[in-house]
Amino acid sequence: MSAFLEPFGGAVCLDFANTLDGRATAQPAEYLHTYADLARWSAFAGLIDGATSARLRRHDAEASLRAALGLREAIFEVFAAIGRGQEPPAGPLDEVRRRYAEAVASARLVPGTSSGGKFIWEFTGDEPDRAWWPISVDAVRLLTEGPLDRVKTCAAEAGCIGLFVDTSKNRSRRWCTMDGCGVEAKVQRQARRRAARG
Ligand SMILES: [Zn+2]
Repeated sequence: MSAFLEPFGGAVCLDFANTLDGRATAQPAEYLHTYADLARWSAFAGLIDGATSARLRRHDAEASLRAALGLREAIFEVFAAIGRGQEPPAGPLDEVRRRYAEAVASARLVPGTSSGGKFIWEFTGDEPDRAWWPISVDAVRLLTEGPLDRVKTCAAEAGCIGLFVDTSKNRSRRWCTMDGCGVEAKVQRQARRRAARG
């Protein structure tokens, strides 16, 4: 079993934002304490393979972890605003752009295998920042291609503020997961109903 949160974001950049869980609770849960955690998460999310992750983990790359966490918080600010129908704040939006520019400066354009001949950014080598580079690319892809009208935050008011792309047919998804905040909300509703009945 993985020590990471099961991904529910529907986009890698949102799953990355969700690695700080329970943002609106008294005890947010941080999943990325060290650079090694970041390299492990990157493999967990399918951004690098296991062998690359193991090589990257030999680095003690505190600066890369800081850069990744800065990117993560910028992604959160930008997409949480979008999810609430607000304009994303300028600072975080520029942080996403800046990290994306850094990432593609180190990437090659190669034909993709699964996207109908479309080219993709390819990252190689053992530069520690490789663990987060593809996340910045995914964030810009989601910003430029959408579907932004499907980006939502979890409806639990004092819960995770998890971000996800709602792919349900009638756009009715409200929770990060039904067995996460979804079930908590249900329990609270039932408790209120019981209390109201006295
Ligand atoms: Zn939630």
